[in-house]
Amino acid sequence: MNTRVNSTAGMQTPKSAGATPKDAAAVILVRAGTDKADPEVFWVRRSERLAFLGGFHAFPGGQRDPSDADTRVEKCETAETGAMISCAARELFEELNVLSARGAEMLTKGQRASLLDDLESGRMSFSELLNHYGLVLNAEDFTFAGRWVTPPFSPRRFDTWFFLVNCPAKQEPHVTGDAELESGEWITARAAIARWERSEVITVPPVLHALRTLSAGVTDDLVERFLSVPQAHQQPVRRIEFRPRFICFPVRTPTKPPATHTNCYIVGSREFVVIDPASPYPEEQDALASCVDDLQREGRTIREIILTHLHPDHVSGVGALVEHLREKVPVAAHRLTKEALEGSVRVDRLIEDEDVIELEGNPRLSLRALHTPGHARGHLCFYEEASGTLITGDNIVGLGSVLIDPPEGNMRDYLRSLERLQALPKLTVLFGAHGAPVGGPHAKIEEYIAHRLEREAKILDAVRQGAREPKEIVARVYTDVHPQSHAMAERAVLAHLDKLETDNLVTRHGDGRYIASDTRIHKSGY
Ligand SMILES: [Zn+2]
Repeated sequence: MNTRVNSTAGMQTPKSAGATPKDAAAVILVRAGTDKADPEVFWVRRSERLAFLGGFHAFPGGQRDPSDADTRVEKCETAETGAMISCAARELFEELNVLSARGAEMLTKGQRASLLDDLESGRMSFSELLNHYGLVLNAEDFTFAGRWVTPPFSPRRFDTWFFLVNCPAKQEPHVTGDAELESGEWITARAAIARWERSEVITVPPVLHALRTLSAGVTDDLVERFLSVPQAHQQPVRRIEFRPRFICFPVRTPTKPPATHTNCYIVGSREFVVIDPASPYPEEQDALASCVDDLQREGRTIREIILTHLHPDHVSGVGALVEHLREKVPVAAHRLTKEALEGSVRVDRLIEDEDVIELEGNPRLSLRALHTPGHARGHLCFYEEASGTLITGDNIVGLGSVLIDPPEGNMRDYLRSLERLQALPKLTVLFGAHGAPVGGPHAKIEEYIAHRLEREAKILDAVRQGAREPKEIVARVYTDVHPQSHAMAERAVLAHLDKLETDNLVTRHGDGRYIASDTRIHKSGY
């Protein structure tokens, strides 16, 4: 995102920087009779279609429902804990058809299915259903294992209570056809970590922490180990490793809503690069500098600072980091970025399309630069083919949409860049500069392309029907956008009109007015 203008999706005024986290609960379901040395847990894969953390591996869970406060929970100390236990039990039941309630052992599989139907059809709330069938939740069945808060890069933030639950005997969890989940399986904690380490799955820090904790065995100090990190006590995680050797480090920036942060990425193991030290705020610059220091103390070496593109919400922390590192670390960017930043940010090395940055370590990591103009002329994405990881800068973001603002922005180039990214040989995750990572890369890129082409078709239609100026076109096409944001929408329309002009579908007159060309001859393309 650029700091002057922003996406059409995020045009509302923010209430505050960073949304208040909503209460949620998640269940770490441990298999009955499992090997205590390496227990099995049930994890699920979230549907790739989900806007937030789509394609991620997670534990069953979800947001608190107002009715959760009505549920009676035995042996429970506070009403709040009771409501969160109810939330955990309800989500576990809804998502996996496992009912962790006293008395549920008397129910057959068919009866549980019919109860689930009662709940999902809205005939009964969870507490009514428990009462009706003489079932009762007991706090002893739900062991508190920490509260984790979503980092503020996301407008959807949760304060999630994790509970360890032993799967009741004779109940076999299965994904209930809930559209949010794609699949689920039992897996030993160690096998799950191994899959993460091989970059076969993406997951969030609390899940990784749970798996690591469980992989040391179900011991007497298990809960203590779960709670031994500050993040398990609502302290947001700063250094987020969704994937090995890729640290996402969101920093607060004066970017436009809905985003409040820019994701800086630290990539590599023994040798690493820092991509987009973005924040102009001293406290955020200090936090990033300490993270880099910590990594160096761990025996790692910073090779370079790299920029995806020129916008201030991506480069404003470069000077501070260079100074912190005593000018010993070069800054690299595309030639067009260097030229645009002349006089404000010093760029020491140029990166060209298809340049490969080899980072030493075990394993070593190859990061391929892809010149992908569209949002900005010198925009670079960084691709690691071995794991299918793509750092997308502002070309694809996990939050809001991308503004193409001419002349820096170019719609034709942008669509070409998206096509190129879509065609990469292996693509498993998109790490954008704003918002959460995207675990369903192909669907997301497809959606981006379709959205642009749909807008383009509507704009062309509007011109054919006599709209002559961007302002008129906005009024006809951007009916879903607040009038306050029409100036931004006009920039986007201009980008589409430039492309339509290049495609010979519209003609621009000297007075800045547009008319449709003969459409029988020319076809739109990019
Ligand atoms: Zn940008």
